[in-house]
Amino acid sequence: MTDHTEEIEEIQEEGGILKSYPTKLLFATLLIVSLIYLSGIRDYFFYQRTPTSVNIEFPDALFEAEEIVVPVTVFVLKGEPFHSKRNREEVEHILENGFRIFEQANISFEIVDNSSIYIENDSFLYDHRSFLSEVKSYDSSRINIFLVGNLRGINGIAFPGLSSLAVADYVTSHDYRVLAHEIGHLLGLGHSSDPHSVMYQGSYGVRLSTEKALRARERAKEYEI
Ligand SMILES: [Zn+2]
Repeated sequence: MTDHTEEIEEIQEEGGILKSYPTKLLFATLLIVSLIYLSGIRDYFFYQRTPTSVNIEFPDALFEAEEIVVPVTVFVLKGEPFHSKRNREEVEHILENGFRIFEQANISFEIVDNSSIYIENDSFLYDHRSFLSEVKSYDSSRINIFLVGNLRGINGIAFPGLSSLAVADYVTSHDYRVLAHEIGHLLGLGHSSDPHSVMYQGSYGVRLSTEKALRARERAKEYEI
């Protein structure tokens, strides 16, 4: 009698929800995924820093036209939660190469101010206007570039109405390509369906169509010094 009861209990336990193999596997997977997400390990697998050794072939100018010079201010953001770990060489690399992508449209950029700023304020993404009010050298008549640590999983973001953009340290494309993409948005460009285009969402493309180049020039003229 006793043996019989034990057998029934055993069967019941085995039939319990956490005893089934697929459920265990699901729980284990969920646990691992959340640990990876929380620990930031995710950044190292899916998002990468762009090495300064990386080189790309830049497309030639699409047409002959007068050079338009757009003033920019560069801020390397320090202080949590958007602290950037970029060193000087990495900052120069992203700027130089990001700007070169616009040589196709005969648009160049002049760095008026390039500095590290220390701001501890988490409103960067959800209330960018209020964040900018803390930035003394912010100037809406220029393109304001923020180099930041992590943008909660996005490579970069543009705030066209505020003439401001940001690029994360860890990205899924080349960081300078992300920079050029966001500059493109500030210069009035929408997304492209051509994967070779710098305005394609989620590729390594660096090209501009003639149409997009001309449109960018129109907007760039409004910034010109
Ligand atoms: Zn975009």
